[in-house]
Amino acid sequence: MHSFQRCIAPLCRATFDISEVLTGCPDCGNLLDIDYEWDKLPVPRSLREYELRWASRRNPLDFSGVWRFRDLLPFAPDKEIVTIGEGQTILQSSPKVGKYVGMNPGGLFLQYEGLNPSGSFKDNGMAAASTHARMTGAKVAACASTGNTSASLAIYASTAQLFRVVVFVGSGKIAYGKLSQALDYDAQTLQILGDFDDALERVREVAGERGIYLCNSVNPFRLEGQKTIMYRVLESLNWQVPDWIVVPGGNLGNSSAFGKAFAELKQLGLIDRIPRLAVINAAGANTLYQLYEQQGIRWDGGMSDDGAIESFFAAMDRDKRKASTLASAIEINRPVNLKKCLRALDTCDGVVRQVTDQEILDAKAQVGAGGFGCEPASAASVAGAKKLRAEGVIAPSDRVVCILTGHQLKDPDATVAYHSGNAELFAEKLGSRGVETAAYANSPIVVENNLQKIIDVLKS
Ligand SMILES: *Cc1c(COP(=O)(O)O)cnc(C)c1O
Ligand SMILES: [Zn+2]
Repeated sequence: MHSFQRCIAPLCRATFDISEVLTGCPDCGNLLDIDYEWDKLPVPRSLREYELRWASRRNPLDFSGVWRFRDLLPFAPDKEIVTIGEGQTILQSSPKVGKYVGMNPGGLFLQYEGLNPSGSFKDNGMAAASTHARMTGAKVAACASTGNTSASLAIYASTAQLFRVVVFVGSGKIAYGKLSQALDYDAQTLQILGDFDDALERVREVAGERGIYLCNSVNPFRLEGQKTIMYRVLESLNWQVPDWIVVPGGNLGNSSAFGKAFAELKQLGLIDRIPRLAVINAAGANTLYQLYEQQGIRWDGGMSDDGAIESFFAAMDRDKRKASTLASAIEINRPVNLKKCLRALDTCDGVVRQVTDQEILDAKAQVGAGGFGCEPASAASVAGAKKLRAEGVIAPSDRVVCILTGHQLKDPDATVAYHSGNAELFAEKLGSRGVETAAYANSPIVVENNLQKIIDVLKS
């Protein structure tokens, strides 16, 4: 095989066999990439060649929205590949959301990753991580999760019946839609009395101690699967590169994967330019925003200012600052893929913005009214695009793709509170988080059980 694992640090660049189970460089502790000897691999000469695979959809590998691009993530022999039909997602132009963001007609697209089997983009990555777990003979896999990673890992384990799963979730924060999935898919579920960052620290220790296969996004194979979201975006745009990709940032696996996808496509001569990347933090979980936009930390060819990053986290610990946002999927203090995301921002001439929970919920209501529902974290992309448009960073004539990372039904609580028109419910669920208004509320109307009264309230 012409693939291997490689440390991202320029002064190390140590390489490791694909068969090793690693979540960081054993030599220096930095993150690992999956790398390929492209010149020894059969890479298509044009992305259009992938259209041939539409004709062989009966082959599950060609049906999969991840694996039909398998020659762009060629680390696994076909017979080892795990697929549960992930990646049947669509890109849709949204006039309503486009208008809200301030784009010219036809300029705004939503890439709806909520259509994946477990309802979030995580399935793209889990298809690849499950494949690697299978290649290495893993018996038990684990992850820490704000909800979607655990739902995804659990559905892969239950559908593919390859390994057992233990998921670690923080306490109190997990959305019920997501928790219900882990329970329903029969994953052993540990609720750690702590937050997501605590759960991640513990699962890494437990995985190391017990030889359990770790499926968080420190797992470099997951990011290989997530590259394919960008391939599908290009496919839907008739292989034309958009001007902007806008994505919410939590642990920064997605943004990192997107940057790698475009760097490789450019290197392989399959695209002629790279889109700009906007990563959107919640204002209550804005580590990347602070480091990148306020402190000016850059990738710098891999020589980013680690001292400044470490003192940022030291101050965070000292002041006991904890991430807090209604967008629970991105409520993260210490994004594990920070370095790779800095690299992606460098590759894609990127920007980072932060949006408030108010901006997120307003944008979410517009996304819902415009056709696709999404969970709060996903709407950060639309809120961020609106902000960048208002600043003039995004031009009205640009073509912008916002990634809707998760399904609307994942987290109905905030949605119902926003739309309820019930002041008490609103205050309890949202007011305490600084959300004051529901400009786009579509409140249910209470009406007597009486035909005439019902007819009276119907919209004419
Ligand atoms: C995991 C997740 C995110 C954050 O993605 P990262 O790759 O961790 O930055 C955003 N939205 C949803 C719905 C998620 O599940
Ligand atoms: Zn290293």
